[in-house]
Amino acid sequence: MVEPQRKGVMNYARFLTAVSAARKPSPIRMLTELQQRSPPSLISLAGGSPNPNTFPFLSASIQVKNGQTVTFDELTMKRALQYSASSGIPELVTWMKNLQKKLHNPPTASYSPEQGQMDMCVTTGSQEGLCKVFEMLVNPGDNVLLDAPTYSGTLAALQPLGCNLINVSSDQHGMIPAALKEVLSRWDPSEVHKPGSTAPKILYTIPNGGNPTGASMTVERKKEVYELARLYDMLIIEDDPYYFLQFEKPWAPTFLSMDVDGRIIRTDSFSKILSSGLRIGFVTGPKPLVDRVVLHIQASTMHTSSFTQLMVSQLLHSWGQEGFLQHIDRVIEFYKKQRDAMLSSADKWLKDLAEWHSPSAGMFLWMKLRDIADTQQLIMEKALEKEVLLVPGGVFMINSSDPCPYVRAAFSLSTPEQIDEAFKRLSLLIKDAL
Ligand code: PMP
Ligand code: PLP
Repeated sequence: MVEPQRKGVMNYARFLTAVSAARKPSPIRMLTELQQRSPPSLISLAGGSPNPNTFPFLSASIQVKNGQTVTFDELTMKRALQYSASSGIPELVTWMKNLQKKLHNPPTASYSPEQGQMDMCVTTGSQEGLCKVFEMLVNPGDNVLLDAPTYSGTLAALQPLGCNLINVSSDQHGMIPAALKEVLSRWDPSEVHKPGSTAPKILYTIPNGGNPTGASMTVERKKEVYELARLYDMLIIEDDPYYFLQFEKPWAPTFLSMDVDGRIIRTDSFSKILSSGLRIGFVTGPKPLVDRVVLHIQASTMHTSSFTQLMVSQLLHSWGQEGFLQHIDRVIEFYKKQRDAMLSSADKWLKDLAEWHSPSAGMFLWMKLRDIADTQQLIMEKALEKEVLLVPGGVFMINSSDPCPYVRAAFSLSTPEQIDEAFKRLSLLIKDAL
C-alpha cells in the first residue's frame, strides 16, 4: 500500500475562534514555570507561590493493590502541594508522550512545531480537554459534524456555543463514510477556504466503545473519514476514553496513527483505567493547537492538581509501559466478563422485547426496545417504581425531545447477579407498558 503524502503545512490560524486567538501567555505563569526548571541556587522573588511550609500536610503514603507503595516524602509533598506548569508536570507529560509514540507511532512526532508536531498536555479529565478544544474551534453558527447519538457531555459543551450540529449516520461500526460523503457533498472542496464558506471545519467522533452506542469504528472507515477530512480541510476530534477498554487484540489503529497532515486532536482519559475521581486526561495534537488549550488552562484551572499528577506519575514510572499495559489487561478482563454477563442476561430476559449489538469495547450496551417508541417516560417515571435505572436514549440525541426507543445500560458497576435481576425487572416493566 502506498502511504499518503502530506499535503503541505496546515494553516491552524483558520480554525481558531476570536477568543482563542486572543489568548496571551500569563507573564506570572511563565515565570513560575521558568523557576521550576531552574537550579536550586536561583533566588526567585518572582511568582506568587505561597510558602508550602505553612501548609498543614506533611507527607503521604498510598498503598497500591499489587503491594507497592507510592510515597511522598516531605520534599515531594511540598511539590505536590504547590503550583506547577499548566501543560502538566514534565515527567508525566514525557511518560505519556512515550506511550503515545509506542501505541500510535504518529507521523507528526517527527515534524517541526510549526508543521504541527505532536504535542500533549494534561487536563483535568478528558472532559476539560474536550470543552477547551471546542471553545478553541467553534464559533456561533459554525457547522459541526458528529455521529449522534453521542456522549451527553459533548453535547453539553458544544450546544451552548451556538453551532449547528450536523448528524452523520452511524451503525455498530461507527460513523458511515458514505453518509459523511453525502453530508459533505453540499460543499465544494475547492471553495472551503473562501471567505464566508459555511463548510464544516471540525468533525467529532468516539472511535471505540462509543458512549452510548458501544460502537467501534473499523480501520477502513477511519481511513475513509480521514481522507474526507483532508479533502475538505477539517480537523478531527478523536475522543477515545474507551481505547484501553477494547476487548479484542490487536487494538484498532487510531486516527492519530494515520495523521500525516497534523489534523487530529485526540483526547485520552485515565478515568476508566486509573481513577475517574482523580480527574486526569490528556490532549494530544499539533503543537500550535495544544498551545492554545494550555493558554486556556492558564486562565482557568491553572493546571490539573499537582498532587494527582505526581501520584499518577510515580505509579506509571514504577510500572513502566509494560506494567501499565499489564494493568490494562486486567481491567479488560474484568469488563469483558461483565459484558458477557450482561449479554447472557439480555438473551434470557429481553430477547423478544429488544435488539442490540455486542459491544467490542467500553462499558455500555445500547438496546432498542421493540415496542416502545419513546423510553423517556418509561425510564424516568416507571422504572424507579420497579427499582431499575437505565439512561433513556434521548439524552444522547442532538434534539433530546425527539422520541427515542433506545436505552443505555452500563455493565461497569453492578454484579452479574444484579444485572440479571435488573433485566428481569426491565422485562416486566416493558410488558406492563405494552
Ligand atoms: N485571584 C487572585 C487575586 C489571586 O492572587 C490568585 C492566585 N494568585 C487567584 C485568584 C487564583 O487562585 P487559585 O490558585 O485558587 O486558582
Ligand atoms: N468522552 C466520552 C465519550 C465519555 O464517555 C466520557 C465519560 O463518560 C468522557 C469523555 C469524560 O471523561 P473524563 O472523566 O476523562 O472527563
